[in-house]
Amino acid sequence: MKTSLLALAFLLLSTSALADTLIDNVNGVQVDRAGQLEHFNGLLVGNDGKVVQLLGPRDPRPRRVDFRVDGRGRALLPGLIDAHGHVGELGLGTLQLDLSGTASIAELKQRLASFASTTASPRWIIGNRWNQELFADKRFPTSADLDAAVPDRPVWLVRVDGHAAVANSAAMREAGVTSATKAPPGGQIENGLFVDMARKLIEAKIPAPLATQRDQGLANAQHQLLGFGVTAVADMGTSEADWNTMRRMGDAGRLQVRVMSYALGLEPLLSIAGAKPTEWLYGDRLRMAGVKFYADGALGSRGAWLKAPYSDRPTTRGLQFMDDAKLKNLASRAAMDHFQVAVHAIGDAANAQVIGAYEELAQTYGTDRRWRIEHAQILDPADIGRLAKAGIIASMQPTHQTSDDNMVEARLGAGRLAGAYAWRSIAATGAHLAFGSDFPVESPNPFPGIAAAVSRADPQGQPPGGWRPEERVTLAQALAGFTREAAYAGMAEDRLGSLDPGHFADFIIVDRDITSAAPTDIAATKVLETWMAGRKVWERSSSLSR
Ligand SMILES: [Zn+2]
Repeated sequence: MKTSLLALAFLLLSTSALADTLIDNVNGVQVDRAGQLEHFNGLLVGNDGKVVQLLGPRDPRPRRVDFRVDGRGRALLPGLIDAHGHVGELGLGTLQLDLSGTASIAELKQRLASFASTTASPRWIIGNRWNQELFADKRFPTSADLDAAVPDRPVWLVRVDGHAAVANSAAMREAGVTSATKAPPGGQIENGLFVDMARKLIEAKIPAPLATQRDQGLANAQHQLLGFGVTAVADMGTSEADWNTMRRMGDAGRLQVRVMSYALGLEPLLSIAGAKPTEWLYGDRLRMAGVKFYADGALGSRGAWLKAPYSDRPTTRGLQFMDDAKLKNLASRAAMDHFQVAVHAIGDAANAQVIGAYEELAQTYGTDRRWRIEHAQILDPADIGRLAKAGIIASMQPTHQTSDDNMVEARLGAGRLAGAYAWRSIAATGAHLAFGSDFPVESPNPFPGIAAAVSRADPQGQPPGGWRPEERVTLAQALAGFTREAAYAGMAEDRLGSLDPGHFADFIIVDRDITSAAPTDIAATKVLETWMAGRKVWERSSSLSR
């Protein structure tokens, strides 16, 4: 028959043209406009890669479609959106020494020495993801530790939160840092450990990665993301080099994951985007949406700016990065040209400062500017109600809570935990709650994040019953955080974040029904297939699915 011949031709040329596709016999679920779980078992996709119709079991199927895919009853979810990740860093990280899981300084030294002995390692050795909280003595590594492993080449090892890093003596020599060097404001140096703003002293001297390395990194990052079912991401701090890499990949037709980009400060923003946010490029794969600023550091390295001193170091309240006027000026400059503003705030003082700035700006610019606070990790309970009123989106990372729960009690003390990772309290005020992972700080896998959101426990179910379980959210809220709400937070809810008609048919087939799974089983969910705009772009190979 003519039509089947035509279909065959389309199949053979399926990269260039898409016709109507019926994905049928699936166990599909998404979050509907009202925030409820919505079940369906068929999906009709048009030749533009967008959803035409979601089908229930009794809905008649179109008699004629060009392609019919039998889902064999498997579970289907909308493509997941990470509302806060670092695409470039994830990519470059794949080319560096990965120290995650290192359990002692001795092991760190041994892994460093063995990486340095491989011929593939560049002259400057960059490592990442160590965490002294996993060491028995919780001691930070020092330059002397690193010198013992690699004395002759520069070494720079970044802590898991990205806010602190340790240099060996060769790195400090090349950077011109001596014992007389003073840390800049907002930074600290101690035994070769460079915290927050002090990191720039070394980072400015690290040779920039080559374009070919960046391209390879982005390709690796994209492959990882698709394999975890992440079809869109807010890139929270895009440098000009990151942007150029994404443009190169887009121009070459190699960009698949959709990136909502937030420039790393005003200068790169204006240089990249000029006077207004860019339109979507490459079939809605890339858009420069706004800008990211930092109000403080992170809790692990005591850089988060608190209203009262740290419980485990009463001499400090952390680091304030900007005064109120500067924050308001920067945010206002960006908002004036309709750029979206996202500000990193971890400590309760930083959050109060950013909320205050947004409240003022909301008066000037109206409330649908999608003001974003990245992390919103420790809030004074008195400030929580202010978020919704000023139209502020809380962009939060459930796996930060499960990674941090040991440390956060030490830093804050038991009396200051009521507004910590307070997802439910925040959502209850009517504020938008978007979820992400902050990869590569955490794994980009959203399923441990969904599990943490509903259980306040890690993938192993620890601690039993969850940490401060009163802040759990429902599965619908958790899934919305990684789909609909993450799209809203990126001003992309008109095309992403659901499988409503008119939205892109970005979806994933997974190995279990998360609506009936225990949290530890949700965390272990494996993605089997990832589809974008109605086309399969990633598939777990049978050897991997064992
Ligand atoms: Zn981040």
